[in-house]
Amino acid sequence: MLGDFEPSSKTEGWVFDIQRFSLHDGPGIRTTIFIKGCPLQCIWCHNPEGISPRPQVRVNFNICTLCGRCADVCESGCHIIDKNSHLLRLDRCMLCGRCASVCLNKATEIVGRKMTAEDVMSIVRKDIPFYEQSGGGVTLSGGEPMAQPEFALAIMKMAHTENIHTAIETSLCVNWQVVEKFIETADLFLVDLKHIDETLHKELTGISNRQILSNVRRLAQTTKPMIIRICLVPGYNANSDFAEKLVEFITSLEQTPEVEILLYHRLGIPKWKAIGEQPPMPEDVPAADRDDASGWVQRLRDACVPVRVQ
Ligand code: SF4
Ligand code: SF4
Repeated sequence: MLGDFEPSSKTEGWVFDIQRFSLHDGPGIRTTIFIKGCPLQCIWCHNPEGISPRPQVRVNFNICTLCGRCADVCESGCHIIDKNSHLLRLDRCMLCGRCASVCLNKATEIVGRKMTAEDVMSIVRKDIPFYEQSGGGVTLSGGEPMAQPEFALAIMKMAHTENIHTAIETSLCVNWQVVEKFIETADLFLVDLKHIDETLHKELTGISNRQILSNVRRLAQTTKPMIIRICLVPGYNANSDFAEKLVEFITSLEQTPEVEILLYHRLGIPKWKAIGEQPPMPEDVPAADRDDASGWVQRLRDACVPVRVQ
């Protein structure tokens, strides 16, 4: 993958969202670019529309009036509507876009649009004064931005050349040869780590963490700043066993990264339904609060690992 690839402003990729004035994806005020496609399937994923590399239909049921126009034009029978409900059968969807074009409320849309690196940068550049004032910049997120490595690299190179601070939020679930390509242009790696235990990692994400942990080790051997991000989910990974294993792993790295604890929230649940899927995690799992994180914070501080809770 990548080989002799030369990133250019015309390199294309699929984006499912762009958030300006973001305050949680690296230092300062940032523009976060959400790139489609992810090799993991975390059961608590709060951006499930980022998992598929393809565009897809999404329905905002909060503003759907059940008028039935989408069902009338869909030749594949994907929208099933009666007077009380709107069900989706998107496995049959041909992505013709008719449903989105007739929805007067914009409740149905196609999520995921093809953009060039220059298209993205033209949005990023709008907020340069805010980056300069706040120490912010651009963050690539997803999905997994390295799942579209050419596109992600093209954006990073352009931003880096224009002296805009660059961060990449990644699971590092890719070949090291891909990670290596980003080292020159990424000012900061935000590494989402789901679990240290391989068996539990497979249960929670569908995939082994061997490559991920190996990449974290190798990245820690460079001088590149890295923050490890952990989403704490009550009943799944918010326990002392994971905290102990994390401390053991982090303190064995060549550089000790900061740890950022993200508290699980339930805002992802309707997003699964909006793309016609059932959330993989039971819906009664509560949001995490600062009490869930307090034991972790203490344990990490005791081990001299810098930590903060978001
Ligand atoms: S056309 Fe729009 S508002 Fe009407 S049923 Fe479909 S999604 Fe809902
Ligand atoms: S985009 Fe999919 S759901 Fe919408 S009308 Fe076309 S086939 Fe039906």
